[in-house]
Amino acid sequence: MHTLNIDFNLQLKNKLIQLYKSKRIPHALLLNGKEGCGHFQLGFFLANLLLCPKASEQPCGSCPSCIKFLAFQHPDIHFSFPIHISKAGNTEISDDKRSEFISLVKKYKTIGKNTWNAILGNESKQSVIGVKESQSINKKLLLTSYEGGPKVLFMWLAESMNLQASNKLLKLIEEPPERTFFIFITNKKDQLLPTIKSRLQCIDIPSPKKPEIVNFLEKEFNLKREDAVKYADTSNRNLHAAVNNYINSSENISQLPIFIKWMRLCYTRNISDNIDWANEFSKVGREGVQIFLIYSLEIFRNCIVGHYNESINDLEEDEQEFLNKFKPFVNNHNIVQITALIEEACLHIDRNANLKILLLDISIKLYQLLKINKQNKE
Ligand SMILES: [Zn+2]
Repeated sequence: MHTLNIDFNLQLKNKLIQLYKSKRIPHALLLNGKEGCGHFQLGFFLANLLLCPKASEQPCGSCPSCIKFLAFQHPDIHFSFPIHISKAGNTEISDDKRSEFISLVKKYKTIGKNTWNAILGNESKQSVIGVKESQSINKKLLLTSYEGGPKVLFMWLAESMNLQASNKLLKLIEEPPERTFFIFITNKKDQLLPTIKSRLQCIDIPSPKKPEIVNFLEKEFNLKREDAVKYADTSNRNLHAAVNNYINSSENISQLPIFIKWMRLCYTRNISDNIDWANEFSKVGREGVQIFLIYSLEIFRNCIVGHYNESINDLEEDEQEFLNKFKPFVNNHNIVQITALIEEACLHIDRNANLKILLLDISIKLYQLLKINKQNKE
């Protein structure tokens, strides 16, 4: 699991190392930035550094503490994160979902809110850090550390703490037990309770530049550069979105039947059928729609270069026939606009656009773009 200690946000990583070397790591630190900015990785790196007894500038990576840490088995790091809480019982704590959380981090090497909510069972249901979790944190951190070293609380999406949970944690942050560090990760620090925020030392983290994301995908997932660029292009500088696009598109074998249906519908120009389709298809969720759009973009581009990529090698006869007929509609007259349309839509999805409206809007614009092309040719 060395993979989370990546060369990402190098400048900030060095800043943390400097703070560590001069023994100035604040006991309550807030790493804030947009999703996929690398705050999760930096927090993880710092926790590893704090817990490694042999660390100088970096965690040594090979002592018993590091080995346990990197296997998510270190007893002195406590992971806290939002979960779905039942209204009736309200007894759930993060540890109930610990194994799901760890699997996600291991698989993605990063993390994102929508993906996490989907794993919890409902993408659009809000997840919360509730008062039971705060009580559990209090209990854990008041115990002496198992390994005799420091203890770390690593809280992802700390802004998900509700009022009760925040209040329950205030005293602990203000008067922490000895050698206890709090690492809070937020996407939106302004949603933290002000009394919590004022007790934390905050580092704001900028979103990564595209080449950083491309490098990450190449290195961590062995992607070819052109593929890495493709996923980074539609990620809106969100590392998690880029990884998620890659993982989902590699798991979904054929989106072609959906694409064919969509294009046929666009052509009918029957608004009510298109609305029905948008309503139905939007149920796959934000990430599902995004993956599909990226897939569609690939088909549009392939229409220009004249070949279809490996993922659609096994074509049924009718599918091949459709693509042959469809190909002439996409060419140098409209591909730039089509590409811009799809890429922009992917960004809007990240910004919480209404999926049904967005899909309908692309359908109408696509029809117009494909029609322009046809008229030019005639
Ligand atoms: Zn170590």
